[in-house]
Amino acid sequence: MGHLRGQLVLPGGITGGELRFGRCIEAVTPLENAPQGRFILPGFIDTHVHGGGGGDTMDGPEGLVTLARFHARHGSTTLLPTTVTAPWEEVLAALRGVREVRAAGGVPGGADLPGAHLEGPFISPERLGAQPPHTLPLTPARVAEALASGVLRAVTLAPEREGAGEAALAFARAGVRVGVGHTRADAEGVTRLLDAVHAAGGRTCATHLYNAMGGITAREPGPAGALLADPHAFLEVILDGHHVHPTSFQLARRAAPGRVLLVSDAVRAAGLGAGESELGGQRVTVRGGRVTLPDGTLAGSVLTLDRALRGALAAGVPLPEASAMLTAVPAASLGLTDRGRLAPGLRADLVVLGADFAVEEVYVTGQPVLERS
Ligand SMILES: [Zn+2]
Repeated sequence: MGHLRGQLVLPGGITGGELRFGRCIEAVTPLENAPQGRFILPGFIDTHVHGGGGGDTMDGPEGLVTLARFHARHGSTTLLPTTVTAPWEEVLAALRGVREVRAAGGVPGGADLPGAHLEGPFISPERLGAQPPHTLPLTPARVAEALASGVLRAVTLAPEREGAGEAALAFARAGVRVGVGHTRADAEGVTRLLDAVHAAGGRTCATHLYNAMGGITAREPGPAGALLADPHAFLEVILDGHHVHPTSFQLARRAAPGRVLLVSDAVRAAGLGAGESELGGQRVTVRGGRVTLPDGTLAGSVLTLDRALRGALAAGVPLPEASAMLTAVPAASLGLTDRGRLAPGLRADLVVLGADFAVEEVYVTGQPVLERS
């Protein structure tokens, strides 16, 4: 049985206390004189992460092990390995890789991988961002093939693509979060899709809100406007200082309390420093914390969620709210009820931060994956 003492970051506020845990949290007890400058949070949940530490989802099991261990050391205890738009056989192979790792019991010393995020190929060829040009229409056969992998937890699609409405409902009925992104749809098209999924009891999300979708103007609110105005859609934001203007982040946070989740959108190069790397078979360059294609297009990030948390704090977000953006909100967006809060009975996925909010200790189901040196 493990125990941790410090400032417990709970949804409603911060309380000095003690946490007792095995694989799950056993007890949360208030404590006078709990250590100051030592914050205990639920483990971070990253719903959009391509790679890190040199590994990539498209590499198969070896890449998954590498990225799961790399991000765990930065506080992410749950990840959805995220595919890129690629020839369909390669996408299916990546999904099989996630199934293989899960069947083998997960990644020792790494984050839990409850499933995968299929980003593309069902996106707009005109809003690729840094996705390679292998987009495909949504056919019932492809939807069935993707679902048959048994590991889909989230999908990104463009509502204007043929078959998107029907496919979104099929994904939602299978418990898959339906993401809107890499799209040229107008606000009406996005709202129609969101309403249909919600009416079927499904969950929706903006895939990296603002990025790879049109902006908001007076008469054309676009996908971002429709997603912000919707009362239910969750909103992924890449808070790395490059993808989203601070004011755009504040707009999302104020328009959609309890619906904003921070994601890394990290690529293979995360954690490797400046230099050349690869994304979806394309050459990318990392410089000054930005990842770009040769033409300057942003190509994912080298973000980790501990840095996203510090970014939110620097933007004036109180710690309990910033913590929720990395824990309770992403858990809710995926329908995961066994994690995301410090409460008895939930998985003992835990992060300990020091006074400077740097990660000091990380636990996945009670097992240390990063210990204080
Ligand atoms: Zn993307």
